[in-house]
Amino acid sequence: MNFDVIVIGSGFGGAITACRLAEAGYKVLILERGRRWDKTTYPSVTNKDWIWKHEAPELFNGWADLRVFPNMSVIQGAAVGGGSLIYANISTEAKPDIFQSPWPPEITYDELKPHYDAVAQFMNVQKVPENQWPERTRLMRDGANAIHEGQRFKPLDLAVSFDPNLNFAPNDPPAIDHPKTFINAQGRKQAFCTHLGVCDAGCPIDAKNTLDLTYIAQAENKGAEVRALHVVKTIEPVSGGYRVHFDRLQNGQRIGGQETARLVIVAAGSLGSTELLFRCRDQHKTLPNISQFLGHNWSSNGDFLTPALYPSRNISPSKGPTITSTIDFLDRSQEGQSFWIEDGGIPDLLSYYVQAQFKRSWFGSLHNDVLVNFINQSLQRRNAFGNIMPWFAQGVDAADGQLQFKRQWWQFGLGPKRSQLRWDIAKSRPVFDAIVRMHKRLSEATGGEPMVSPTWTVFQDLITPHPLGGCNLGTSAANGVVSHKGEVFDYQNLYVADAAIIPTALGVNPSRTIGALAERIAAHIIADGR
Ligand SMILES: Cc1cc2nc3c(=O)[nH]c(=O)nc-3n(C[C@H](O)[C@H](O)[C@H](O)COP(=O)(O)OP(=O)(O)OC[C@H]3O[C@@H](n4cnc5c(N)ncnc54)[C@H](O)[C@@H]3O)c2cc1C
Repeated sequence: MNFDVIVIGSGFGGAITACRLAEAGYKVLILERGRRWDKTTYPSVTNKDWIWKHEAPELFNGWADLRVFPNMSVIQGAAVGGGSLIYANISTEAKPDIFQSPWPPEITYDELKPHYDAVAQFMNVQKVPENQWPERTRLMRDGANAIHEGQRFKPLDLAVSFDPNLNFAPNDPPAIDHPKTFINAQGRKQAFCTHLGVCDAGCPIDAKNTLDLTYIAQAENKGAEVRALHVVKTIEPVSGGYRVHFDRLQNGQRIGGQETARLVIVAAGSLGSTELLFRCRDQHKTLPNISQFLGHNWSSNGDFLTPALYPSRNISPSKGPTITSTIDFLDRSQEGQSFWIEDGGIPDLLSYYVQAQFKRSWFGSLHNDVLVNFINQSLQRRNAFGNIMPWFAQGVDAADGQLQFKRQWWQFGLGPKRSQLRWDIAKSRPVFDAIVRMHKRLSEATGGEPMVSPTWTVFQDLITPHPLGGCNLGTSAANGVVSHKGEVFDYQNLYVADAAIIPTALGVNPSRTIGALAERIAAHIIADGR
């Protein structure tokens, strides 16, 4: 075997298992389909390479992978560091009462808690200091108070580095020129957040504590090898382990290759891991005994967005971290539904593009403060989207979607099979209706005019950045794909460790739970001497 472990994908599941196993002395290889980005190549700076195209990744291997299915679209990251580069940094635990059947009985909140804490510590999570709250956070607090639910408002933990001593006024112009820098615990250079508001398009100063700067950095410190732009195609059992086949993306070409390892950890995300196992079971038939439960009980995690217009209040949603706080109704006090409300930011990409181009230009090289201030002030006056509040939410939906791997009927049995999603809103509608009513109530109580999108009111179309499930945890192959240790039923030393194993909606941002499960899976692999 060339390696002890091959990890497929480098998001929360992949980065964390790779790091812990490398620390324990395993020889680890990470195969990641996306690029290795840095603060000079992020789309927020270059305004290009936005799209990952599933059908032609050798030509389009950009930032975000958007899949459009009937009534449900899914957006996910493609990068060394997975979704952590594109995400809004909220790092939060699920409520203890989520961990009931169909979760395996071995996994309880109390049992997971040390792993939750490990993720929080490693990713250095912290709240936005109160002296730096963006206007959105104040509106969240005002909204909760206005509907007499003030105790439900709370600032959330973010995987972002803040300097509490930063002298920050909400109306200061965005500035990417002079951030205060530091070296993080893994030896990587970062800066403290200056509220640029482009968390979802790549933080141009590296204030986000992303996986490439934390867990992956530590994995590499301990000898792990990371290969970017490697798309895994299939996994086959061989004597003593598994052979992993991949395409390397180079100069617009796909170049085939393979590596072997004793253990394989599939961590390609909810859609990616499920599709890879479908290919192994049904297309290449290399892992024919994978459970028939594959693809079942998929969840959108109840994500919903309602913009509201505030004619006489300045919200400036383009300033500050993309999400900062919640109003928590997870206790089912509203219409019997479990959900929580969050604020949402809108990145003002034009401003950052102009600033970055200016910095690189001949004018920028003059380091002329008058010119820099003029540019900054002009951008500030734009105050893009200034009077809009994006009210955001997650909720506990029915988790009854089904991922499939097949041709469309109109292909008449010809052409390649693709991932499909069967999604029926019927059983999940009550939680979305409750969220919409709460968004309207909060908007109206604070002087806003909610604008519920016709994509929902007319078409019931949704989009989620939080896909969950597909290779679900279970107690046997009859009700799941992997055991409570993440091991694929019937295939020793083959694991899934990512959002794909989560068997229910969480109703909160999922990355910390995915991370805690990955910590737990790595701990079991090491304890079992695998
Ligand atoms: C815009 C946005 C905002 C978000 N905000 C938040 C937030 O604030 N808080 C939160 O908790 N969550 C947030 N999320 C969700 C979060 O990013 C995901 O839940 C999380 O990243 C999932 O972790 P994962 O390990 O399952 O998969 P991912 O992080 O998606 O990692 C999977 C990796 O596998 C790679 N991959 C896929 N297929 C292959 C293959 N065949 N071969 C090799 N590599 C492959 C992918 O490129 C990717 O890097 C957000 C997501 C988006 C899109």
